[in-house]
Amino acid sequence: MGDPNGFLTTQRLVAADRAPLERIRDWQEFHAALPGVDQERQGSRCMNCGIPFCQAGVLIKGAASGCPLHNLMPEWNDLIWRGQWHEAWLRLMKTNNFPEFTGRVCPAPCEGACTVGLNDPPVTIKANECAIIDRAWSEGWMQPQPPKRRSGKSVAIVGSGPAGLACADQLNKAGHQVVVYERADRPGGLLTYGIPNMKLDKTWVSRRVALMADAGIAFVTGCEVGRDLPMPQVRAAHDAVVLCGGATRPRDLSVPGRSLSGIHFAVDYLTASTRWLLDQQANGRPSIDVRGLDVVVIGGGDTGTDCVATAIRQGCRSVRQLEIMPEAPAERRGDNPWPQWPAIKRTDYGQEEAIFISGADPRHYLTTALAFLDDGHGQVGGIETARVNWTPNSQGRMTPIPVPGSEQTLPAQRVLLAMGFLGPESTALDELQLARDAQSRVQTGDGSYQTSQAGIFAAGDMRRGQSLVVWAIQEGRAAARACDIYLSGTSLLPG
Ligand SMILES: Cc1cc2nc3c(=O)[nH]c(=O)nc-3n(C[C@H](O)[C@H](O)[C@H](O)COP(=O)(O)OP(=O)(O)OC[C@H]3O[C@@H](n4cnc5c(N)ncnc54)[C@H](O)[C@@H]3O)c2cc1C
Ligand code: SF4
Repeated sequence: MGDPNGFLTTQRLVAADRAPLERIRDWQEFHAALPGVDQERQGSRCMNCGIPFCQAGVLIKGAASGCPLHNLMPEWNDLIWRGQWHEAWLRLMKTNNFPEFTGRVCPAPCEGACTVGLNDPPVTIKANECAIIDRAWSEGWMQPQPPKRRSGKSVAIVGSGPAGLACADQLNKAGHQVVVYERADRPGGLLTYGIPNMKLDKTWVSRRVALMADAGIAFVTGCEVGRDLPMPQVRAAHDAVVLCGGATRPRDLSVPGRSLSGIHFAVDYLTASTRWLLDQQANGRPSIDVRGLDVVVIGGGDTGTDCVATAIRQGCRSVRQLEIMPEAPAERRGDNPWPQWPAIKRTDYGQEEAIFISGADPRHYLTTALAFLDDGHGQVGGIETARVNWTPNSQGRMTPIPVPGSEQTLPAQRVLLAMGFLGPESTALDELQLARDAQSRVQTGDGSYQTSQAGIFAAGDMRRGQSLVVWAIQEGRAAARACDIYLSGTSLLPG
């Protein structure tokens, strides 16, 4: 702790995002970075707490409090304050395989739990992390590190999202030969096809994948295990398998008119947009396009926000977001104290942009869709909505009940369903007859990450259910350790 008064003398400072009216004209990242010297000053605000709640990574009321990766924040905050960026980077890499991803897209449960946040804005942990790793890439410190010795064992990883990538990185470090199978044309999972480019530039994903390939990891894209390659064949060809296929089954909305054309799942829409962006030379417009159309996004969460921001950049005529839950409070409620994740209203980049364009927040709270309306040609033309009251049902469970007389018709030639995910797809899992839990997630033994079949492991959203990039990395690392113990009898990998 270089400056014992830092948290008293220095105010929290984060770089201003690019202005909404400028950034909606392109697909570049909207966040900016502080000059290095200002970021160093931010490091001085860390108090090097005796109990660093920022590192805890525990679940309180179902939400993370502190970093699930147990990042060494007090150490690297102090090191950047001292200008020792290389040492800070070495500490950062001990716990997090991909800080350039979490430094951009993590909701930062570390900051929600930071002790400075009790009576002041918390330490800028996320921006400090991003500054360290961005400097490491620009200084050339990030070099491929193939293992010194190979174990002679091989592992197949199915799925190349953050869980699969973290698992591959760790198992490669342990000397195993790793092959990552991915059904999409590019690796990265939701880092590539999901999170939009303006939040996470795809250059950073492909740069990282290239580094991993140079370190000896093989990537096989365009290959769906269970369809293009039978799962038993994959199992037979490798000493172990780690399943990291995500929780990709989207929640649907079965109301009248659902079969009309023009209604899409959010990830299909976001994927089409990013694929068009990356292949721009070849295609005129994205395969799901909203230019000149009225768009309604159903779902007020982060995926819905990504749809709003994408629709704006594609040139939609209007965009609205339906949210069935009530508006969150501006500040923590009494029953949501520190260090819990603050359940407060956040106006994210997509809503901010919509407000700049139309003057109004696109979110309609406590609102549900009753029916999709036909435009007369089998295409959606509008949505009938209603306000809801949350009322206990006969079992005492709170249920949204439409309020009679509150019906409204909204114009909508495109509807995007962003209502979350129901768990993993079944094909590959059924081939292996793996045990699943009530939410259809792959079941693993306590702390072992091993499925009901020996030598087959699972990690990430496929095991945990829909979650966050930081949890996926944590799961990938822990599954790698479990797999390494299975293969080698012991492991030097951290869990
Ligand atoms: C639109 C959107 C935005 C998000 N934004 C954020 C954010 O800002 N911050 C954050 O922390 N989290 C965010 N999340 C959540 C986060 O992206 C996920 O929790 C995380 O990516 C899960 O990682 P994973 O590796 O388990 O699975 P995924 O990232 O889903 O990757 C699974 C991969 O497995 C592949 N696959 C599946 N089955 C097979 C098969 N049989 N054969 C071969 N390949 C297969 C899939 O094609 C996919 O590439 C977002 C999620 C969505 C949908
Ligand atoms: S809780 Fe905040 S102040 Fe304390 S060690 Fe962590 S980052 Fe520093």
